[in-house]
Amino acid sequence: MVEKNSLCPVCNQEGKLVKNITVNHMVFNEIKQKVGDTDYFLCINETCNIVYFNQEYDVKFNENEVKEPIWFKDDANPKYVCYCNKVAEEQVFDAVINKDAKNMKDIIRLTGAMKNGKCEIYNPLGKCCSPIVQEAIKKGLEIKENTK
Ligand SMILES: [Zn+2]
Repeated sequence: MVEKNSLCPVCNQEGKLVKNITVNHMVFNEIKQKVGDTDYFLCINETCNIVYFNQEYDVKFNENEVKEPIWFKDDANPKYVCYCNKVAEEQVFDAVINKDAKNMKDIIRLTGAMKNGKCEIYNPLGKCCSPIVQEAIKKGLEIKENTK
């Protein structure tokens, strides 16, 4: 059986499964009753404005219906890498480029990222933000290298 339900109803790209508890927390309170008790998919297409969708129940939420900007969407501002502590990609770049941060430990010390992690409800994917932070460190180091 082909899992058609995982395809975004707008852009048709495959989404990532997200638990109900996460979606419930991310969607604005006024429209929360639409969430119900099912799990959702997160559209990972950066140009698509759909965030969460559930094809089976024909429910979808766009970028204006969730509380936080979704970091990988092209108009996300700020681009949070750690939602629990509201640390943006820019802050990681700044720590790497101007404060000599080189690894996760430095970033945790300088930005406060990853402390008091409640990723299950604060991160739009409901997953630990450490891979995103790691990716931002890598990008920051590349920028630093290229501007020497
Ligand atoms: Zn989409």
